[in-house]
Amino acid sequence: MLGELKSILGRELASLREQGLYKEERVLQSPQGAVVTVGGREVLNFCANNYLGLAADPRVVAAARRTLERWAYGLSSVRFICGTTELHTRLERELADFLGLEDAVLYAACFDANGGVFEPLLGEDCAIITDQLNHASIIDGVRLSKAQRFIYRHSDMESLAKRLQEAGELRVRLIVTDGVFSMDGDFARLPEICDLAEQHAALVLVDESHATGFTGPTGRGTHEKFGVMDRVDLITTTLGKALGGGLGGAIAGPHELIAWLRQKSRPYLFSNSLPPVVCGATLEVLRILREDPLPLQTLDANQRRLRQGLIELGFDIDPGDHPIVPVHFRRFATDAIMAQNMSRDLLLAGIYCIGFSYPVVPPGQARIRLQASAAHTPEHIDRLLAAFAKVGRKHGAI
Ligand SMILES: *Cc1c(COP(=O)(O)O)cnc(C)c1O
Repeated sequence: MLGELKSILGRELASLREQGLYKEERVLQSPQGAVVTVGGREVLNFCANNYLGLAADPRVVAAARRTLERWAYGLSSVRFICGTTELHTRLERELADFLGLEDAVLYAACFDANGGVFEPLLGEDCAIITDQLNHASIIDGVRLSKAQRFIYRHSDMESLAKRLQEAGELRVRLIVTDGVFSMDGDFARLPEICDLAEQHAALVLVDESHATGFTGPTGRGTHEKFGVMDRVDLITTTLGKALGGGLGGAIAGPHELIAWLRQKSRPYLFSNSLPPVVCGATLEVLRILREDPLPLQTLDANQRRLRQGLIELGFDIDPGDHPIVPVHFRRFATDAIMAQNMSRDLLLAGIYCIGFSYPVVPPGQARIRLQASAAHTPEHIDRLLAAFAKVGRKHGAI
């Protein structure tokens, strides 16, 4: 039996390679940062979720080291047996405060948070109304619940209104959206979503993984950016992106809902507690965000410089102000090949970035997705622009 499975998967893997869909992992030989060593060469990294540049910030590393000395390494327990330290409860309080919600509960990852949020809160007489382009972990979490599923077209408010009407009879109606969609860096239309939620007496859950820490005037997220902090009911987010990039996730919301999740949410109940070192480092990240506006300001200046420079070179860039900056090739029939060849040549030119094509994005919409970071200097961005100019001309993209 094993022989048969191995040969089937061997053929499938070969087929992935032939179609150009096989994901190779490049091995880093340095810590995460604006400059990383890959294959023995230093390259500029423009594809990390390290938005605030805190993954290797000396203050965060020092906090992690102090926490390691004080609390040692592992907890070897789930939270409700003997895996809750003062650091966990403090981090949950501070995260809730930061996100502007009553309470919060930690998970091993945001993938787990999304996997564990729906099933305990919603039964078969309830409705989840979900954006078509929501993250894979939301899709899986929705599948794990017994609630009825209503999918609306991406950021289409007419479609959302229609789905809400269809769900009108159901007991609890929950609208779910990514705050920021990772392939385009576009924001959910939260003010309109909250209006519709109010009209239809629905709740709103926003996954803020690509927003927490750096979106909005003080980095609290998409709800802060759009002035709807008091209108979002639940937030799921990650510690694995802007907030230091270690690992971990959280759900924030009203006391009773969070208390219920602690009792019933399976990825919380049946999975190990976060290592104290992660909690200590994340607490330091939250302190930095309260006291030091520089990472946020630098990130904003960097995404502007990056967008403006690419537009001036003639690349196809959507308007926006998120540090996710997709460079599109949709004007060309050979979009997928262009994205692939350009990202290969850019790496040779010392710029590490990734091309995405079908099926990761819709056919004809291949792109190179760049991500600005507060760790970049203006000179790093200028080097990227010079490389894009050269490689873009070579491949006829500009
Ligand atoms: C990255 C991401 C996740 C998963 O977060 P992890 O903490 O890495 O599991 C969930 N949702 C969205 C929208 C994401 O971008």
